[in-house]
Amino acid sequence: MSERRVLVIDVSRIPSEGLEVQESLEPGEVHLEGEDSFDLAPGGRLKCRLERGEDDSVHLRGRLSARLALQCGRCLEPFSLPVEQDLDLFYLRRRAEDEVEEEDEVELADRDMVIAYHDGDELDLGEMVREQFFLTVPLKRLCREECRGLCPACGSNRNHVRCECPPPEAAASPFGSLRKLFEDKDR
Ligand SMILES: [Zn+2]
Ligand SMILES: [Zn+2]
Repeated sequence: MSERRVLVIDVSRIPSEGLEVQESLEPGEVHLEGEDSFDLAPGGRLKCRLERGEDDSVHLRGRLSARLALQCGRCLEPFSLPVEQDLDLFYLRRRAEDEVEEEDEVELADRDMVIAYHDGDELDLGEMVREQFFLTVPLKRLCREECRGLCPACGSNRNHVRCECPPPEAAASPFGSLRKLFEDKDR
């Protein structure tokens, strides 16, 4: 299988008028191999424009549209999460000496943009897309906020089925049996 490297940009080949990128997203290109907490659904797209500035800095602006396939943490059903993200990123070339001119720093801070680094020759937009996905995926992965989850007794999905199992709180609580003791005493 020949490797499609459409998301890896050769910085030196970005023309002075800028480079338009419009690509479909494949899980391998956005480095999701080995990522088992979510998956990329087909149909994802990256549309952006790259402009090269002085010192090989690159300004990226565009939009990321994709759907992630996840599993609900309560009911274990699959669900999808839309990712619609405007992108405005500024890549600086990381220098070996790592010298940062103070003037540059102030100017960039004023612009209030997201700043990333590239190591010189190549810019891997797949890395950027992957990071955006991780920023989008919430810690609590729920198919919906009010998901009722699985019954701990019979395992049925309580979003769909109303089982007759007693609520687990009452059964497991030590106060349940205590209360019973007191009730017996009063008699
Ligand atoms: Zn759920
Ligand atoms: Zn049940």
